[in-house]
Amino acid sequence: MPLLFTRSPLILGTEILLKPNIEPSAAKEKVIMNFVVIGGDAAGMSAASRAKRNQPDMEVTVLEQTDDVSYSACGMPYNIAEANRDMDDLVVRHARVFREKQGIDLRTGHCVEAIDPAAKIVKGRASNDDDFQVPYDKLLIATGASPIVPHLPGFYQEGVLGLKTLEDGRKIREFIVDHHVKKVVIIGMGYIALEMCEALRSRDMEVELIKPRPVFLPWMNDTLSAMVKEEIEHHGVNMYPGHDVESIEKVDEGLKLLCSDLELDAQMVIVAIGVTPNSQIAEKAGLELGPHGAIAVDKTLLTSNRDIYSAGDCADAYHVVTGKKTWIPLALRANRGGWAVADNITGKAVSLQGVAGTAVFKVFDLQVGRTGLDVKEARDAGFDPVEVAIRSRTRAHAHPGSSTMGVQMIGDKKSGLLLGVQMVGREGVAHRINAPALALHAKMTVEMFSQSDLAYAPPFGPVWDPMLTAANQLMKKM
Ligand SMILES: Cc1cc2nc3c(=O)[nH]c(=O)nc-3n(C[C@H](O)[C@H](O)[C@H](O)COP(=O)(O)OP(=O)(O)OC[C@H]3O[C@@H](n4cnc5c(N)ncnc54)[C@H](O)[C@@H]3O)c2cc1C
Repeated sequence: MPLLFTRSPLILGTEILLKPNIEPSAAKEKVIMNFVVIGGDAAGMSAASRAKRNQPDMEVTVLEQTDDVSYSACGMPYNIAEANRDMDDLVVRHARVFREKQGIDLRTGHCVEAIDPAAKIVKGRASNDDDFQVPYDKLLIATGASPIVPHLPGFYQEGVLGLKTLEDGRKIREFIVDHHVKKVVIIGMGYIALEMCEALRSRDMEVELIKPRPVFLPWMNDTLSAMVKEEIEHHGVNMYPGHDVESIEKVDEGLKLLCSDLELDAQMVIVAIGVTPNSQIAEKAGLELGPHGAIAVDKTLLTSNRDIYSAGDCADAYHVVTGKKTWIPLALRANRGGWAVADNITGKAVSLQGVAGTAVFKVFDLQVGRTGLDVKEARDAGFDPVEVAIRSRTRAHAHPGSSTMGVQMIGDKKSGLLLGVQMVGREGVAHRINAPALALHAKMTVEMFSQSDLAYAPPFGPVWDPMLTAANQLMKKM
């Protein structure tokens, strides 16, 4: 295979500008940094754009293995829910804008296979089968995560699909149309599985959910998770927690999922049992790994190599509650991490506080949110967790349209610290969860949080916000 050098290795990093008739010793030295990014989505393109904005003369190269860059993966279930939408609606900024308007050397169809940290070169293969090598001064690994697909019989056949990339989304849309899909089994009951469950039900498909672990939402109090389960079943979905799919067989009418004690039929199977960080090239290059095999980074996003950064789903992070390393693959962290790397390589020192694990999702008419630790995580981190679960109204007494909201709040008996909150309700969850998230960043005790001046008006909640009611109840147990 030919080696494609993109630019002469001789002018890498530092370019000496020699004025005519001037001795080299008096030459003006200008540093043109060569910043290479692996991965062209949230973290990678945030970093590339900001680096170019911070330092327009920087050479920025992005190597992306697919043909898609800068898109909202989070929007895919909502896109799939609508039969006539185009998957490309989810593209936030097109490749040509990065190339033509921002001056970024964006190379799609370029899969990086190895990093040579000693030579400061990345190597890989392009989609036209040519090998390539690209040298760097500073490198960002922003390779994201991949869906976990078990190595079991039948999991790698037509009609068994995962959802991570835009191309995965296109395949699901096409498969539904081409095979007139009316019956789907989703393996997994995490947020992507539940969002897909709603999306497919809204297109009148029969949906069943199955997963190996017997507990539906293990991070949530039983009373609250029962509210979520009830909502899903109310929309005609059968749920089978505690069943391990051992194989998937092709049969005349489609697919058959086989467990030791159950068989389910489907035309299409979605595998949504979680994701794993794409850290293989980092590991091969000798970089340190953290929890779940994510690439270990410090608060400036630097890896164990002084010229290599990592951000987004492939990297680990500090948890603001425990102060320890964690791996929570979510979008804001990826975008913010990309910015922080760009700032750090262009001389604006940025150190990130970390993550609280704040997340929210919608399933049918329910909103589900969480921030901080669940009881098990709190215990594992060495806290002495105490919890309450309360039910409250979402609007003031007698205000029309009110419904029930469930809140679980966890505090530490020893220190009084607030540790985590989980919430379920038909309204007001998505933004309300941000109040305890902020309290976790500020390391508030439950008592301090109970004294917060939260907003009140009848259409938005009771005068004692459900957060405050939960905090007041929790204080009695601490
Ligand atoms: C269906 C779905 C719904 C989601 N909903 C939410 C939500 O509501 N809220 C939320 O916070 N998060 C959500 N997420 C998660 C969110 O999308 C991710 O956290 C975010 O996309 C991470 O961005 P990233 O840049 O780190 O990784 P990715 O988006 O995975 O991008 C990594 C890129 O690197 C490329 N790449 C990988 N390896 C190589 C290689 N060797 N060479 C070249 N290129 C490579 C990949 O092709 C990919 O384009 C959702 C994800 C999915 C799939």
